[in-house]
Amino acid sequence: MAEVLVLVDHVDGEVKKVTYELLTAARALGEPSAVVVGAPGTAGKARESLASYGAAKVYAAESEDATGYLVTPKVDALAAVADQASPAAVLVPATSEGKEVSGRLAARLGSGWLVDAVGVGADGTVEQSVFGGAFSVKAKAAKGVAVISVRPGAVEAEQAEGAGAEESVSLPAADPAKAARITGVEPVVGGDRPELTEASIVVSGGRGVGSAEKFEVVEKLADALGAAVGASRAAVDSGYYPAQFQVGQTGKTVSPQLYVALGISGAIQHRAGMQTSKTIVAVNKDPEAPIFEIADFGVVGDLFNVAPQLTEEVAKR
Ligand code: FAD
Repeated sequence: MAEVLVLVDHVDGEVKKVTYELLTAARALGEPSAVVVGAPGTAGKARESLASYGAAKVYAAESEDATGYLVTPKVDALAAVADQASPAAVLVPATSEGKEVSGRLAARLGSGWLVDAVGVGADGTVEQSVFGGAFSVKAKAAKGVAVISVRPGAVEAEQAEGAGAEESVSLPAADPAKAARITGVEPVVGGDRPELTEASIVVSGGRGVGSAEKFEVVEKLADALGAAVGASRAAVDSGYYPAQFQVGQTGKTVSPQLYVALGISGAIQHRAGMQTSKTIVAVNKDPEAPIFEIADFGVVGDLFNVAPQLTEEVAKR
């Protein structure tokens, strides 16, 4: 059976959920192998959990340099393993970083690049949700090893037994003149909450929230639900919430089990980043707001009445 490479998304060997989703998706195409890029010892930490989601091999691309550079070591590692293993496909999370890694890798390999897939079929055909989810298209790489970026949350992760055999991959030394280097890492606001693209519940606020101070109402509901906080672009542009929490076409794409939209009208650019959420709940005082077209549950009302009541009810359980 052909190998399918999966780039492991992790923090110091702590594997992120999206990796398990990709290992699950990879099984439709062949035998999944995980590629871990990190400091020495990282693959060893991640090996067991990767094997429990079906990774037959765990390629360890480790060096002291690997965490100091942005995308270069990941592209180098995937290209090296792809050369050696001739895989059926390479799967990369469609995160901000993963999008760049997959694009560079496809260019390096001279391969077809399929972006932001929400489903992967056995014949290598992927499904993509386009124009803010208005259309679903099917696409297949016509050339080379298909490089596919897969939307976080789009595939349900399922456990499967894999051998998890560790194999080391040598990374070329990074060229400091060519590669962007990480000079510092700052903690972000909301550091205790789940990461936006990883969270199974997201509570987002829009311009309807009215101010940065009042965003507390969004955060309180998010904390009661153990959710991540998101924001519309209008809320970000108005200075209510930091830009890294923006959901939508020019922000992050999320696909949680539950998405709660508070005071968000549902513009197509916002929908592009959340339309594939499994259940959508909208609170908006305008019954004509377009968000209600895609909401599974809608409350026509003032968010400052509805959200605190919801928070209180959730907190009781
Ligand atoms: P509004 O459209 O102003 O809606 C506010 C809503 O709050 C209204 O529906 C109102 O009825 C409701 N409301 C007000 N007060 C209350 C209350 N007390 N209780 C309940 N409801 C209330 N947008 C994104 O979100 N993400 C993107 O990534 C993005 N990218 C874009 C890219 C481009 C190229 C362009 C042109 C636009 C992009 N936009 C994006 C902007 C998008 O078009 C909308 O302008 C934006 O999503 C609107 O945000 P909003 O729904 O918060 O604000």
